[in-house]
Amino acid sequence: MSISFPVRHETVPVRVGNVVIGGGEPVVVQSMTNTDSADVMATAAQVAELFAGGSEIVRITVNTPEAAAAVAPLRSWLDQMGIHGPLVGDFHYNGHRLLSQFPECAAALDKYRINPGNVGRGSKRDEQFATMIDAACRYQKPVRIGVNWGSLDQQLLARMMDENADRSEPWDADEVMREALVVSALDSAARAIELGLPRERIVLSCKVSDVQDLILVYRRLAERCNFPLHLGLTEAGMGTKGIVASTAAIAVLLQEGIGDTIRVSLTPDPGGERSREVTVAQEILQTMGLRSFAPLVIACPGCGRTSSTYFQELAGRIQSYLRNQMKVWREKYPGVEDMRVAVMGCVVNGPGESRHANIGISLPGTGEKPVAPVFIDGERAVTLKGERIAEEFQDLVEQYVERHFGDSVANADRMNDTAGIQG
Ligand code: SF4
Repeated sequence: MSISFPVRHETVPVRVGNVVIGGGEPVVVQSMTNTDSADVMATAAQVAELFAGGSEIVRITVNTPEAAAAVAPLRSWLDQMGIHGPLVGDFHYNGHRLLSQFPECAAALDKYRINPGNVGRGSKRDEQFATMIDAACRYQKPVRIGVNWGSLDQQLLARMMDENADRSEPWDADEVMREALVVSALDSAARAIELGLPRERIVLSCKVSDVQDLILVYRRLAERCNFPLHLGLTEAGMGTKGIVASTAAIAVLLQEGIGDTIRVSLTPDPGGERSREVTVAQEILQTMGLRSFAPLVIACPGCGRTSSTYFQELAGRIQSYLRNQMKVWREKYPGVEDMRVAVMGCVVNGPGESRHANIGISLPGTGEKPVAPVFIDGERAVTLKGERIAEEFQDLVEQYVERHFGDSVANADRMNDTAGIQG
């Protein structure tokens, strides 16, 4: 499905390892580890999980000499495992020292995240910022100038508050804060360019934790620059709140054509998978029709017409099955990520919704005959009944995928295309 957006924020493409951010390329999904980066094996396992889950760039904390020393071994380990996705180093306070003292770290990373509010204070600030930019120039790495309202440059904010007080009609404090975030990012980018960093190696972000503030800040950034923009709500929170807040903010901006890469900063549930943030980011992009990652399951919410949880269990089972299969299907069945599978609870909307999907099942509601018609490409194809409806439906999905997205189909289509061209 392709969507035309009313405004597309044009940006200069920035290459990060084997990925391009901006320049009209598809919006890139990022994530971040929460392991101790000095622990190579633990971090490698989580980076692998995030890439396997579909993250296209992974950021790691580089906060200590031990963490910096571990970056090159981490990169080697990932390469040996066949994982070549870009790694970004997240630096605060001591990035200038770590990048200087650990050249293997500087060389192994694919991008540096620099927070202008945490580069240093007073006279040291400019010098330390310059040291980090110098490393980016020397190793030909892009940087993300990542401003965060929790660590906004306090000198800049104080100066802008003073200037605001002199206005005949002063802005409110929130407005000054939003402007300070944007100015901090743009001034830092301008400084980096003065220091010799090409503009096609700069990505910007200005993260806040309030949805409306984030939208206002990014609209302003997009108006004033053509650097690619990294979107995300900082400290989005846990569970549904984190997902809803991130989705609300990111979706509004993407709909306006703003944003080249996204990260959903969820606080994981204890013991929960870190890659959940990747799944949420992918689902934002897919439900908006911007990209496809895995077949979509359309399931009704259920109501008084469903007397058991059977259809919810089936919808959950099919969703997990499709996501797990994508690890294999991605290569084997190109285009399968666009498939839509319906799992519906009763006759009211079941047949209609199932007809709109590639393949759909309409389960029997309370009082209905205990049979489940299956619709394939809009036609009623078969009726399932008995104890093995779930297994049989899963088999039908598997057969559908093989039939419609398998090599033989693709090859036949290619031959037909060729014959058409020759004819
Ligand atoms: S399809 Fe049936 S079970 Fe599902 S929400 Fe609609 S009426 Fe209820």
